[in-house]
Amino acid sequence: MNCILRGVRVIDPAVGLDLPGQDVWLSEGRIIAMYRHIDAGTVPVIDLTRGPGQSPCVLAPGFIDLHAHLREPGDEGSETVASGARAAAAGGFTHVLSMANTDPTVDSPERVAQACSRAATAVVQVMVAAAVSVGLGGTEMVDVAGCAAAGAVAFSDDGRNAAPPELLTEALRRAADVSRPVLVHPEDEAIIAANNTAGGALTRSVDRPAQAEAAAVGAAIGALAAAGRGRLHLQHLSTAASVDLVRRAREQGMAVTAEVTPHHLGMWLPAAAPTDPPALLKVNPPLRGQRDREALVQGLRDGVIDAVATDHAPHPMDQKTGDLAAAAPGIAGLETALATCLTLGGMSGDWIPVLLERLTAGPHRVLGEAAPARLPRLRVGETATCVLFDPAAEWVVGEATGQSLSTNTPLQGVRLRGRVLLTLSDGLIAHHDEHNLPWPAHLVGSAGG
Ligand SMILES: [Zn+2]
Repeated sequence: MNCILRGVRVIDPAVGLDLPGQDVWLSEGRIIAMYRHIDAGTVPVIDLTRGPGQSPCVLAPGFIDLHAHLREPGDEGSETVASGARAAAAGGFTHVLSMANTDPTVDSPERVAQACSRAATAVVQVMVAAAVSVGLGGTEMVDVAGCAAAGAVAFSDDGRNAAPPELLTEALRRAADVSRPVLVHPEDEAIIAANNTAGGALTRSVDRPAQAEAAAVGAAIGALAAAGRGRLHLQHLSTAASVDLVRRAREQGMAVTAEVTPHHLGMWLPAAAPTDPPALLKVNPPLRGQRDREALVQGLRDGVIDAVATDHAPHPMDQKTGDLAAAAPGIAGLETALATCLTLGGMSGDWIPVLLERLTAGPHRVLGEAAPARLPRLRVGETATCVLFDPAAEWVVGEATGQSLSTNTPLQGVRLRGRVLLTLSDGLIAHHDEHNLPWPAHLVGSAGG
């Protein structure tokens, strides 16, 4: 690769950099020059200059997703590490944290090591979260130090929240000893069980009141207070009450961070368009009302919520058709995350630098400096780990072939704005939208060089 991207807006949230009209020269996987106008003889120029009043294409550091279910091992028909990584790249993510709730669960140093070796050949960096408790059962803690030594960058029982506060407290302490955060799926299982009149698995129960989340957020923050050390990260907040609880804990100086998904930012009930099948909108925690959604947006804006994380949850469509109560919860979200935020979340315009912070430096802060994910940066000399996107380009979800093996999104057929054109991971091309980013023919052969 040796080319100049002409006329892009360069945004690097880690240092507050936001420069319009830049030329960026990429050579052999590195950023070798970046300024207003570069003429470098025969070096091919990809001219992305937009006219007055038009939104420029944006070059940003690669996005970091703190929350993805890549389904391997155990459900490779829904997703594999390789396909999930390609979907991540198509969404602009160069780092993705894979959850532990595979089959078998990633709950021992051996399984962490296996997960890390599966990730080794992925097109983006796939990081591994280990479970907090064996089998996500909430009774026996995993070997925290051993799992960290084997490569786990975080601990999470996501999908379940069976661990009692005492176990979570001890897990926070042990994770602190190895500089790892503990990620919690905050839904109180006792409250959900009490509402689960249909019977069946708790994870599939549709009646998940907002109080179940507030109770679990409160309990997790209490466990952190009891631990006296450690870092707690709350996954996929969905209610205004949760945002308030996190805000108060932060004001008290507690080491609590939080994430929100694109679907909770961009969709709310009953406004979300009905889907066929209806279970495409089924997700844990559920989509809430407009007031909750506005509180999430405000929390993201003012930094109480540190990260946008996808909770990419691929499922085969036969798990989404039929009885709503029996359907699998979850939305495949890696490829639509950016466009969902820009289009349905209303985060274009002056939102863009904030949104990019919550997709890059924010999630990196959550992982902490001890995590191996080096923060991608846009500066001369740096290996290119970055995303180029056109915030104004429109596309229809599902019209072009996606990279994920699953298509369970309520956005099928929906026209969104914001298209990822190119994702470079560690100097190599991880994703290239050849249709929307014409590439000089003589460059193709040297892609990745
Ligand atoms: Zn979850």
